[in-house]
Amino acid sequence: MKVIIIGNGLAGVTVASNLVSLDPSVEVEIFSEENYPYYSRVKLVDFMMGTISKEDLIVFEEFWYEARDITLHLQSRVIEVIPKKKKIIVEDVTDPKKTEEHDFDKLVIASGSKPIIPKSALEESSTKKTILEPVHRDKKGWHVLRTIDDAIEIREHLKQAQRVNILGSGLLGLEIADKFRTGNNTLDTTIIEIEPIVAPAYLDKKGSFVLSNLLERAGVKILIDTRVTECTGEEHIEGCRLSDKTIQKGDIILFACGIKPNVDFLVDSGIEMIETPDYEIEADEVIGQEFTRSILVNEHMQTNFDDIYAVGDCCEFDGFMYGINPAAIEQAKHCAYNIIQPGGETMDYKGTIPIVTFHGFDTELASIGRVNEYTIGQAEMEEIFSYFKVDLTLGEYKKIFIKDEKLIGAILIGNISLQMEIRRMILEKINVSEFADKILEENFNLRDYL
Ligand SMILES: Cc1cc2nc3c(=O)[nH]c(=O)nc-3n(C[C@H](O)[C@H](O)[C@H](O)COP(=O)(O)OP(=O)(O)OC[C@H]3O[C@@H](n4cnc5c(N)ncnc54)[C@H](O)[C@@H]3O)c2cc1C
Repeated sequence: MKVIIIGNGLAGVTVASNLVSLDPSVEVEIFSEENYPYYSRVKLVDFMMGTISKEDLIVFEEFWYEARDITLHLQSRVIEVIPKKKKIIVEDVTDPKKTEEHDFDKLVIASGSKPIIPKSALEESSTKKTILEPVHRDKKGWHVLRTIDDAIEIREHLKQAQRVNILGSGLLGLEIADKFRTGNNTLDTTIIEIEPIVAPAYLDKKGSFVLSNLLERAGVKILIDTRVTECTGEEHIEGCRLSDKTIQKGDIILFACGIKPNVDFLVDSGIEMIETPDYEIEADEVIGQEFTRSILVNEHMQTNFDDIYAVGDCCEFDGFMYGINPAAIEQAKHCAYNIIQPGGETMDYKGTIPIVTFHGFDTELASIGRVNEYTIGQAEMEEIFSYFKVDLTLGEYKKIFIKDEKLIGAILIGNISLQMEIRRMILEKINVSEFADKILEENFNLRDYL
């Protein structure tokens, strides 16, 4: 059996390594548009700051693939998938005129995701020319951080930079801001967030308030509830204009406003996708419309074609596009198992409990499970019971969310030592009605109540 994998990120390599350990006779080929064997995206921020080398980033060198008989095609971009013919078309990144066809028995799409660039900051709009001056990615100082090559560009530019504007206060925005504020050469750092709270995907209002205090104490300027409408400067970025027309100076603008699946090459393939329109609205006018698409998969990680699977950031399962490592790993393991079907068995993927942890600004943060309106529907919110503790002086916040006598999520800021027990209570759906009010106490131990 020949399995082709599109993408050599965490999801792709995990599928590959599981396939060959379940069945060494399976033929595995990976196609990657990048020019590096598998490296860790989690360490990219350290690499960008120059605290680790390129070699430290690489997780699997070429010999890892050779030892497992896995063929890795680098700089090979898949431009088309033809499900009915079980073929892919691959373009040579160094010479796009060169293309090749490859056949598969099974195909795994692990094409990951790409950074979201708000349309207003990307290009001229036909309806709002006066506000949205054209801004091009080739302006010096315009950056995203997704790949080694992105990190190399930023690293180069940081040598002359003094002021940085980070768009987005998610995990990546926070991590970058932390690195810019610590060490010897700190930079004047501002986080610009379109939502009215920081880290809106992981926190609630109070948690966001506690975190904002910690960020401000560390010297990070935070601008919430505002958006960038224009980047100023000709060849070099000099700053950005905000929705209230003020200019926020800065020689670097770094987009950390979230991700969208890398699936453009599949739009005409017949592979079923979930399509959500993204609107950009300025003064009640729609100024741009794009779509976020993600590949729909079932509990076996299969698409609407039985022999085509999808895993990692590019897919959506049961309404969730996770965008985190633990989900990519779990999905990849299930996918490999369901392709090989040892002893004729299959394994159902039941979803991943989203866990996000952050260490920086002399604090720690964990957001586990469902904690805000992004994951708890409005009607459902009324059935949610919560307990919380807050200490602004110490910068501590703990909150748990309970539904039907079971924990569904938690936010921990300051001390996150409870995270493993919380994860267990959520995973095992433990009835907490007898001790819910004790969970946030200093010496809580789950074993005492089981
Ligand atoms: C800087 C940074 C820090 C992060 N930190 C954390 C963290 O602390 N914790 C956490 O849980 N998650 C973190 N993440 C997210 C995590 O890295 C992703 O969830 C994970 O990489 C998803 O793996 P993936 O294999 O699905 O996608 P990716 O890692 O994006 O890999 C997909 C690969 O497919 C390639 N590809 C795409 N299209 C094609 C095509 N048509 N042909 C050939 N190749 C193609 C891409 O170039 C890419 O190399 C971080 C991400 C970044 C960028």
